[in-house]
Amino acid sequence: MSNPLLEEFDLAPFSKIKNAHFKPAFLKGIEDARAEINAITSNTEVPTFENTIEALEFSGQQLDRISSVFFNLNSAETNEEIQKIAQEVSPLLSEFGNDITLNEDLFTKIKTIYDQKGDLNLSVEQQTLLDKKYKSFSRNGANLSEDKKKRLREIDAESSKLKLKFGENVLAETNKFQKHITNEADLDGLPEGAKEAAAQLAKSKGKDTGWLLTLDYPSYIPFMKYAKNRALRKELSLAFGSKAFKGDNLDNQEIVLKIANLRHERATLLGYKTHAHFVLEERMAETPEKVYSFLNELLEKAKPAAEREFKQLEDFAKDVDGIDQLQKWDGSYYAEKLKQKMFSLDDEQLKPYFKLENVIDGVFKVAQKLFGLQFEEVSDIDKYHEEVKTYRVYDLEKNFIAIFYADFHPRPGKRGGAWMTSFKSQYQKNGVNVRPHISNVCNFTPSTETKPSLLTFNEVTTLFHEFGHGLHGMLANTTYPSLSGTSVYWDFVELPSQVMENWCYEKEALELFAKHYKTGAVIPMELVQKIKESATFQEGMATLRQLSFGLLDMSWHGANPKGITDVKEHEVKAFAGTNLYPDTTETCMSTAFAHIFQGGYSSGYYSYKWAEVLDADAFAYFKEKGIFNKQVATKFKEYVLSKGGTENPMVLYKRFRGAEPKVEALLERAGLLKVG
Ligand SMILES: [Zn+2]
Repeated sequence: MSNPLLEEFDLAPFSKIKNAHFKPAFLKGIEDARAEINAITSNTEVPTFENTIEALEFSGQQLDRISSVFFNLNSAETNEEIQKIAQEVSPLLSEFGNDITLNEDLFTKIKTIYDQKGDLNLSVEQQTLLDKKYKSFSRNGANLSEDKKKRLREIDAESSKLKLKFGENVLAETNKFQKHITNEADLDGLPEGAKEAAAQLAKSKGKDTGWLLTLDYPSYIPFMKYAKNRALRKELSLAFGSKAFKGDNLDNQEIVLKIANLRHERATLLGYKTHAHFVLEERMAETPEKVYSFLNELLEKAKPAAEREFKQLEDFAKDVDGIDQLQKWDGSYYAEKLKQKMFSLDDEQLKPYFKLENVIDGVFKVAQKLFGLQFEEVSDIDKYHEEVKTYRVYDLEKNFIAIFYADFHPRPGKRGGAWMTSFKSQYQKNGVNVRPHISNVCNFTPSTETKPSLLTFNEVTTLFHEFGHGLHGMLANTTYPSLSGTSVYWDFVELPSQVMENWCYEKEALELFAKHYKTGAVIPMELVQKIKESATFQEGMATLRQLSFGLLDMSWHGANPKGITDVKEHEVKAFAGTNLYPDTTETCMSTAFAHIFQGGYSSGYYSYKWAEVLDADAFAYFKEKGIFNKQVATKFKEYVLSKGGTENPMVLYKRFRGAEPKVEALLERAGLLKVG
């Protein structure tokens, strides 16, 4: 049987692929990649950068292409069969990955080259690649003695079990809570849509009447924001805040302590002072000291604004409802009311100005003005669904830059959210610059029989955001695929995406595309002004909240956790500088802080704010010279977008900006520098 995935292909051959092709393609791809690795290890010549590092970098390329086609489909156009294949091939892929990292012959060769790296006359990009390959082994224990290697494996096995259990407990706690409402008055204030959803939920859970509230976000968030009933808000808030913190069989306190200690032990085994030192070695922020000083500097500067906003909210709640002491369960409710009073801005007013086609046209125009890119919609590119739009992208001299796929609307087989991905990375080999195939996938409001697709403002900024990631991929211009495009340090990857969002707030940019879908009238400036102001509403309080999570994360990972015995007590200390609301003894953040104890954010939570500082500082440069200034845009393209992960991001950033990023631009944009 001929298999289109095993033939050489440039554009992903979607229309020829049948589900039955995937598994055999993966098996053959892994076999071929293994053979390529064996060719490296069995090579009897002296190991060199070319015959080892470069050969390793370019091994498994067919497997990578098969994987990207398959896993992109599993996200954007999946079905039960594809999901079943995913479950079968995922363990095979991770086993193959482990076989490489545990391959001692391969490591010995890499280490030989690494040890002479000063004498090899390598380019900066080659040094980065060598470093990256070496560390992918050393950070997994390749340099350790046998008994320490064994301990490292034990730690990894135990940690992954604990992380799994942590997540299961949080999920079980979330699902366990159900509040059945039978008196409609208890739902006063809730929008009709949220009420209907609650009634639907009650029915689906076998209740004959009434409404059901749960701790899932779609139920919990609107309730906390709109429901008048303060006692019920309190009940839900405490239930939400005490997940896995009740001293029963679903409690996560012991697990949190164990995970923190195992991480510390693993880091020290590998020669790092703490887990945070281990993680931050591969981040723009570099050290825990820098993260702490970053968080504390922002805290010091944002706190006065946060306190002012909190006072305003307290006064407002007192005024409206005679609330004497504002509690956690009052925050979103009164914030929403105050926001409505101050801005009276709703999506329906804005949506007519953001017809999807106009916004796409707008983001292309922005890319054209900044980087000279031309997007040509074409119909001869094979696609996985008829809704997908396809483009060939050229530069000013008509050089081919990239293929761009755009898939905008929800479908049953698409997961939620919005993301950028690629079907093929950019790289250079044998003198040829191979251009990338980039894709944006979103879930925007679809068109109806009477109306075209009209986006909410939030969807507009999301489109610009994902397109920014897309530009990072499309403009990539590196030699090695693993350093190309968005393959950069974690706390740097959101710069190109977030910076693009800034154009959505600028008159000069909005005039290009924000036109009423019926009349063609450009969006009125007072609406734009309102969008801007409401975007920074209570930004001080929001900043403090993000900082408190970042500080809590660092408190668990930036020092030896051995002395911590009481999770809640530790947390109270970590939160001391960021509290606005009175503490509640029955709640605990750490026991449900999945980002850091289950997901991959440990010692990384700060990166949300870090990325905002970067994008605000970068955009301030554009603002200063003109938001379509060619010189600034060209610098951004040359020094940031095209360079991927070939150099330390701070070096790249400074080359673009002329200085390290400063927090001031963010404070300014967020309106936190205003006095009084
Ligand atoms: Zn992003």
